[in-house]
Formats: sequence, structure tokens, C-alpha cells
Amino acid sequence: MNQLTPPHVGYETQVLTLKERLAKVHRIITAGGLWPITKGHVSCRVPGTNHVLILGHIHAEGRSLANTDVDDIVTVDIDGNFIEGRIEAVDERYAHTEVYKVRPDVNAVVHAHPTMATAFGIAGVNILPVGNRGAIFAPKVPILEFDKQLDTPERGKMVAQAIGKGCAVVLKNHGVVVTSDTIENVCISLFALEETARLHWYAARLGKVEPVSDAEVRSVMTGARYDEFFAHVWGHYEALDPRHRI
Ligand SMILES: [Zn+2]
Repeated sequence: MNQLTPPHVGYETQVLTLKERLAKVHRIITAGGLWPITKGHVSCRVPGTNHVLILGHIHAEGRSLANTDVDDIVTVDIDGNFIEGRIEAVDERYAHTEVYKVRPDVNAVVHAHPTMATAFGIAGVNILPVGNRGAIFAPKVPILEFDKQLDTPERGKMVAQAIGKGCAVVLKNHGVVVTSDTIENVCISLFALEETARLHWYAARLGKVEPVSDAEVRSVMTGARYDEFFAHVWGHYEALDPRHRI
């Protein structure tokens, strides 16, 4: 990984823009109901540095994530050490930083507790790639048999290992961790995971659950279709932001 030491030219502007985008997806995910009692957090890398931007511990202030703003986002290094911000980073920052260490393709991580996806973990059933939002989770979403807080580097490493080369893991009796290449795409992927879990659950009530074909997975995961998977729905999710103006 590039270990340039900030501040480099444009660092402050770059960080502010990333914080605005991070704050926005926190508001969107809250509005979408994917973290009951509004607990969860999103992070991103600061490109060209070993810095990570992540939610501050605003739960400790009794705050809702519905109003997350730029000054609620703080900077830590890749080891989770505090660098700057008005409040300390969330305890579970290691579920983010340890993934960044081993996945150079990942630039954004979200940890949330969506009801349906989490239920699959409790039942010990892997979410399969079903429906038209499921292909990115092929061949299946792994389950990590660990239900405690992800508040140490060792626990973060367990998450990174469980995700492997994939983009999601369900933490038994806890929640999920989802990764992607951008802040917006990790938000979209989190919604896609919950939608896929819900569809799997409905289908299982009716009969055998048949995942999408390998050919369809390959098609969705390459070229223009991969870009469209995200770009075509971002406007929908962006409109969930209470501060969104058309
Ligand atoms: Zn959690």
C-alpha cells in the first residue's frame, strides 16, 4: 500500500469531500432502516495515504445517525490509531482497518445490523446470490461464528479472513460487514445484501432456492454491467438522504 505521509497537496480538500460523502451514506443507511437503533458505521480510505476516515463514537453522545455530518467523521491510521477529529473513533474500527490492510481493491467498508441478513447468520444459513441484486455475493455469503464486538485488531483480522476475496460476511448474532470500491458502492451493496437476504427468505418459504447462474454472475461482475449495477440505482438511494434536494 502507498504509505505517503499527509498532508500532501490537496489533502484537506480531499478529506472534506470524503467526509461529506461518508456523512451522506450514514444518513441514507439510517433512512433505509438498515441499522436498527441506528448503530453502525461506514469508513473509507484517504487515497495516497495510510489514513482511514470513519464515524466518530457519536453513539456515546446519544446521537442518531440520521443527522450525521462532516464533523462526526474522524481520521485514524491503518492500525486504528486516532489522528484527528472532535471525538474518538468507534470501537469497532478494526473491522474496517484490518480489511484495508489485506484488500487493496477495497476503499470503503460498512458495518451494520440489518435484520434479515443477520437472521441468516443466527440460523446458520448462507445467503445465496438470488434475484437481480444478488450476483455480487456469489457463490454465497460466509458466516463468521463470532458474536462479540469487533474492537481489537485480532477480531478485525477474523473479519478480513472471513470475507476473503468476497464483499460481505454475516457475523452470527451480530450483523454484517460489507466492502466495495467506493463509498457510494458500499452503501448500495449493503442495501443489495439485505434485499438479497429477504428474497432468499421468501423463496425458501415457497420451495427450493435456486441461485442465479454462474454465467449471469460473470456477466454482472464484468465491464459495463458491473458499473450499471451501482450507477443505475444510486439516484434512488441518494434520494433517501433527508438533506437531498432535487
Ligand atoms: Zn456491531
